[in-house]
Amino acid sequence: MAWRGLHFGEKLRYNAGMLTPAEEPTQAAETSPRQRQTERLKLSIPIRVMSFGGSAGDFVENTCTIIINRDGALIALKHRVAPDETLRIINLENFREADFRVVGEVRLQSEEYLGWGVECLEKERTLWDIEFPPPLDPAGLSAAALLECLGCGKQGLLVLNLVEVELLESAGTLQKLCDRCGHLATWSYADVTRRPKEIPPAAPQAPVSPVVGKWDGKVERRLYKRMAVKLRALVRNSKGDEEIVKTENLSKGGLALCLKMQLSLGEFVSVICPYSGGVQEFERKAEVRYRAPHVAGQNWFYGLRYFRE
Ligand SMILES: [Zn+2]
Repeated sequence: MAWRGLHFGEKLRYNAGMLTPAEEPTQAAETSPRQRQTERLKLSIPIRVMSFGGSAGDFVENTCTIIINRDGALIALKHRVAPDETLRIINLENFREADFRVVGEVRLQSEEYLGWGVECLEKERTLWDIEFPPPLDPAGLSAAALLECLGCGKQGLLVLNLVEVELLESAGTLQKLCDRCGHLATWSYADVTRRPKEIPPAAPQAPVSPVVGKWDGKVERRLYKRMAVKLRALVRNSKGDEEIVKTENLSKGGLALCLKMQLSLGEFVSVICPYSGGVQEFERKAEVRYRAPHVAGQNWFYGLRYFRE
């Protein structure tokens, strides 16, 4: 299987159950220091993919990422490529570009699109311009949020403790060191709606993610601005089955996360978020408003909206 070296392999496996434990040592042994794994982020960034002389012939396709980490991504493509082929990828947000190696295919349960894991071949380049921490412990308490420095515009998936999460929640900003500014700076949530910088002539606009889909209607999206926050949450269904995972994003009105449990639209669940394992934690009722098969169909991506009684 061609998943060695896919830097977000660990997280994908956790979410999608794609790799068997037997593959772990190989993966670890071949991971160079520069290629160490980082936490991954579910983020739909508009990209242009170009292939020359590959198995699918020459093509240019505008599409988007589904999941990114520092040096790699899971991307959606209509064209069928092959492992070890090289693709040129342009980030349409900032026009940075780099060569990527196709690592392997990930089934998306989409008629039109295939998912491909890709890793950057140019180790000095960062296409996303987002700083990533090492992987978070899925069961651990640490949280992370995609924040932007208001001083210089730098974006990073910053690791936060629960006090910092609360400060962000109440004030909307947080004081943290910014290495680009060189001093303590004010950070706030980065916009998760990523747009192309400009549309070059003859190129159609990159589509919204074919996999993630829309969270809800436009009006609702304005009311419930999403923030990319990874926070430990407990979800319990009506049968009493529980799962503890990290959220993919949060809003005032709800949260999105990946679960193995099967929930149907309109079903109500109990949610504790943040979940620290204490006895007196605030439990809320939430309704399943969105669901889609996640990567490889091993689990589901859910949008849950808090129920107001
Ligand atoms: Zn800064």
